[in-house]
Amino acid sequence: MSFRATVLTLYPEMFPGALGLSLAGKALERGDWSLETVQIRDFGLGRHRAVDDTPAGGGAGMVLRADVLAAAIDHAARAADGRPKLLMSPRGKPLTQARVRELAEGSGAIIVCGRFEGVDQRVIEARRLEEVSIGDYILSGGEPAALVLLDAVVRLLPGVMGNEASGGEESFENGLLEHPHYTRPPEWEGRPIPEVLMSGNHGRIAAWRRGEAEKLTAERRPDLLPHPVTK
Ligand code: SAH
Repeated sequence: MSFRATVLTLYPEMFPGALGLSLAGKALERGDWSLETVQIRDFGLGRHRAVDDTPAGGGAGMVLRADVLAAAIDHAARAADGRPKLLMSPRGKPLTQARVRELAEGSGAIIVCGRFEGVDQRVIEARRLEEVSIGDYILSGGEPAALVLLDAVVRLLPGVMGNEASGGEESFENGLLEHPHYTRPPEWEGRPIPEVLMSGNHGRIAAWRRGEAEKLTAERRPDLLPHPVTK
């Protein structure tokens, strides 16, 4: 059974977007994964199909209504559907490669894209939405975040990446940032490729790469190391 993504959005035209090209696009054509969008507005109320309303307690902006969003979610998750229900949200747990891998091993995901100020808290609780953030900054909507999450998941699906081996060596897969890369020419603007990489000695090369990865991680992301240095 291939990975099934269902995205709830007010802008279905944003999908598959970038995921219709390159690796993800070819995988989509092959049926390695599928993508369905649900237009939240189809569940809107009244002649104008309203989906949002003013915040209780006052304040700027609009809030996605719980009743409208729940109707869209229940439609997407009809009949025993074990897929996790995610809500893209800056308040969510930051997305990690470990969570991406878990998702890729599952049957798919239902992904809700917020808009405006966000969504009514009650639907998050009642439908047990897992809030997922892609970083500490604010987007205008959840759609780019959903594209980011799906890109990360799809490249891990069986058969999607040409070179299966390269998956396990990426940054984060072993808890470290990746070592630097080089390719021809051997010298460029007076900068040679590190000698060890030209040595043909696989043991030395592996040790050098490991050392570089550890050095980079300590410099840039000490928080990733098992015992981060406390200030
Ligand atoms: N008022 C909210 C931000 C709303 S941004 C707050 O301050 O927390 C509108 C929508 O964009 C959100 O509902 C969410 O779906 C999406 N979004 C914005 N930033 C995001 C992020 N960093 N990660 C995931 N989704 C995000």
